Amino acid sequence: MQDHDDDRTPVTVIGLGLMGRALAGAFLRDGYPTTVWNRTAAKAEQLVAQGAKLADSPGDAVAASPLVVVCVTDYDAVYELLDPLDEVLEGRVLVNLTSGTSAQARATAEWAARRGSAYLDGAIMAAPQAIGTADAAILYSGPQPVFDLHESALSSLGAGTTRLGGDHGLSSLHEAAVLGLMWGMLNGFLQGVALLGAAGVSAAAFAPVANSAMGTVAEWLPGYAQQIDDAAYPALDSTIDTHLAAMDHLVRESELLGVNAELPRFVKALTDRAVADGHGAHGYAAMIEQFRKPSTKRPRP
Ligand code: NAP
Repeated sequence: MQDHDDDRTPVTVIGLGLMGRALAGAFLRDGYPTTVWNRTAAKAEQLVAQGAKLADSPGDAVAASPLVVVCVTDYDAVYELLDPLDEVLEGRVLVNLTSGTSAQARATAEWAARRGSAYLDGAIMAAPQAIGTADAAILYSGPQPVFDLHESALSSLGAGTTRLGGDHGLSSLHEAAVLGLMWGMLNGFLQGVALLGAAGVSAAAFAPVANSAMGTVAEWLPGYAQQIDDAAYPALDSTIDTHLAAMDHLVRESELLGVNAELPRFVKALTDRAVADGHGAHGYAAMIEQFRKPSTKRPRP
């Protein structure tokens, strides 16, 4: 813990759910004068015991600090809290760590600008327990001078404090990309657990095998990324035709063992389309062209 230092920027944290409490706790540990507000005031008790000041209202919370961090469930909650405030936001830096889409982040940057607020959008790539440690990465997007002004305070939240660029949508986009990656890995693991479970193999026995396989796949990524950026997909290891045959085995195995075959069938259907597009002899990186096409279901507005 660092000593309290009067030069440290006062910080406000609005939203004291699991994540907001971790954020406020990290500021307090680093000696930042911290004001908090939460709809359910009882969640502030422990932070107040640690030295936080509990504001009476969202307006008072914003007025207390030049740096205002918001972390609530979604953007609807952000607007519900901050839209009625108006002029108190003027001249402050608003850092929104609420998850959402890139379009919501860009719209909120414009909304903040109309109120005279500088705006950073952020994506937390960590669990609450990791906040304030070397393991927490938080990605920000927005103007460089605004980030520079508060980089020191924001670094209290995690060693991996990074600005991605000026486009306010970049942090949300990175969050979505990494979540998609995470679910892809987890769902692949769960499919394997279901298959092996039919033969009496425990999930614990599969975990080290899965871990090693994920490490192997991770090593392929730089080469695949280069092929994708070059739009050239020579088959360095196996062709998409070979992958397709193996996918058929996975579908049949899942069906025969009576476990869920939807994910393997979907992956095979996507790969069938790549072959139909003439990529059978190419490497797996050519599948990017299927992912770049819009899906038939229209996105929600
Ligand atoms: P949480 O524990 O469910 O807390 C949600 C917070 O939002 C609470 O403070 C809640 O207030 C507040 N809230 C919701 N609707 C509100 C409204 N209409 N008006 C005022 N306050 C409202 O969620 P969390 O885990 O802290 O997550 C917060 C954000 O961080 C989410 O966008 C989440 O995606 C993101 N995030 C979380 C994690 C994680 O591991 N937890 C990781 C990365 C990103 P009450 O306490 O009064 O209900």
